[in-house]
Amino acid sequence: MAALLSSCCVADDPRNYLNRPLAEGVRRVGFRKWYERELLSSHAHLVLTLLATVAMMGAAEAFGKADLQGKLMDVALFLISAGIGLWALRRYLYLLMHAESVANQANCPDCKTYGRFTVEQDNPQGRWVRVCCRKCGHRWPIEY
Ligand SMILES: [Zn+2]
Repeated sequence: MAALLSSCCVADDPRNYLNRPLAEGVRRVGFRKWYERELLSSHAHLVLTLLATVAMMGAAEAFGKADLQGKLMDVALFLISAGIGLWALRRYLYLLMHAESVANQANCPDCKTYGRFTVEQDNPQGRWVRVCCRKCGHRWPIEY
């Protein structure tokens, strides 16, 4: 079962099965689509952060009117919502910063064309890819 899950859902990226690694994403859909998906995913985590905050406020409001059992349930709901909210906020910031970091390196140093490159070499251990500009053929590394 674990092998099935790792082969179908996790892909090669241990950080999230919904977000493809840079090299694989650029090869499949191109840089601009990869970047767009990273931003959409990060903002979905921001929405989850806001929903968790609303749940925390609801639990805090219900706390005053509840009996002992209800208060325990409200405390549990508050703590669970806080945990989800903190995780989602951390994930939002990570995905946003990662996408922006890569986007800041996506200009061709030679002809200044933005985001039009192909991946030539991937080095996941060194966390960089070597890309080639589709307009002028210049090669440069992108760290991620
Ligand atoms: Zn170029």
